[in-house]
Amino acid sequence: QLSPLEVPNRLLLGPGPSNAHPAVLQAMNTTPLGHLDPSFLALMDEIQSLLRYVWQTENPHTIAVSGTGTAAMEATLANTVEPGDVVLIGVAGYFGNRLVDMAGRYGGDVRTITKPWGQVFSLDEIKTALETHKPAIFALVHAETSTGARQPLEGVGELCRKHGTLLLLDTVTSLGGVPIFLDEWGVDLAYSCSQKGLGCSPGASPFTMSPRAMEKVQKRETKVANWYLDMLLLGKYWGSDRTYHHTAPINLYYGLREALRLVAEEGLASCWQRHQKNVEYLWEQLESIGLKMHVAKEYRLPTLTTVCIPDGVDGKAVARQLLLEHNIEVGGGLGELAGKVWRVGLMGFNSRPESVDRLVEALKEVLSK
Ligand code: PLP
Repeated sequence: QLSPLEVPNRLLLGPGPSNAHPAVLQAMNTTPLGHLDPSFLALMDEIQSLLRYVWQTENPHTIAVSGTGTAAMEATLANTVEPGDVVLIGVAGYFGNRLVDMAGRYGGDVRTITKPWGQVFSLDEIKTALETHKPAIFALVHAETSTGARQPLEGVGELCRKHGTLLLLDTVTSLGGVPIFLDEWGVDLAYSCSQKGLGCSPGASPFTMSPRAMEKVQKRETKVANWYLDMLLLGKYWGSDRTYHHTAPINLYYGLREALRLVAEEGLASCWQRHQKNVEYLWEQLESIGLKMHVAKEYRLPTLTTVCIPDGVDGKAVARQLLLEHNIEVGGGLGELAGKVWRVGLMGFNSRPESVDRLVEALKEVLSK
């Protein structure tokens, strides 16, 4: 006989998910409506306009994909990559490589520019790469969760326009916590997730495409090779037709709507400032106990910090003790940085000075052992 579900009460300071805001949990704990109920359709409209706000875009085609960030990532490529299209991808970490793998599966002629993990591309490097490859699509990861580096975007969209290239941006670890100006930057396709900066649970993932990107989808010679993520079909559910497409995960959408409402209530600029202020406090506190950050200060993310594991310290054992003895989750390194860094997230509801204090106190105790 199984007992009713009991889950440990952890403070999630890893790369995501972050702890959902209590108001978001409460919103999700509400009776589901039908996915074509007028009240639910009205809620979808609200999600769309709130997403435009947090992304700073006017894109009509701005929706939430029913799935995690990877589904929304796949949606950007599935819709726009036609067999033979040159797709240029900036790879400076684990998620750049995931884009490479995916774009190839949709028949893209994939080219890459690379940087050591923890560094970012300069505008000159991007300019040269665009002139060399003349891609149909250029993809960058704004916030590389595997390294903690923030890729600057100023000027990139302008260069892409010159070459008729669509600019695609991964904002999974930036939305809600890092300033983003999609329209000002000339970004054509972007995706994110619900479980990090927005402070919701995973499963309803923001997706947006510019009219220019939509035109490419409409002019395709072949059908989108993924029925579930086909934006021409999904657009009919999210747009005025309201045609059945799939049964939306209703309660997750309640949560997402509440999470976005909370960001709007706080004010986007204040929300960004809170993330920046708290992460600077984190860096200061970690440095005060002798720890070093992996990324140069100028390019560090407000949402995720990679902290160098000191020589002679077993990083895995420390993370395990933090989890089991202090109920605090931090992440380990991915790929090239495995065993070299811890990944500490301060995202959404968790971006508070109390999170920093709790972590640093616990770390002091664990490291002294
Ligand atoms: N892109 C980046 C930069 C991420 O950090 C993640 C997940 O952490 C993803 C994509 C994939 O998102 P998900 O795990 O929600 O599928």
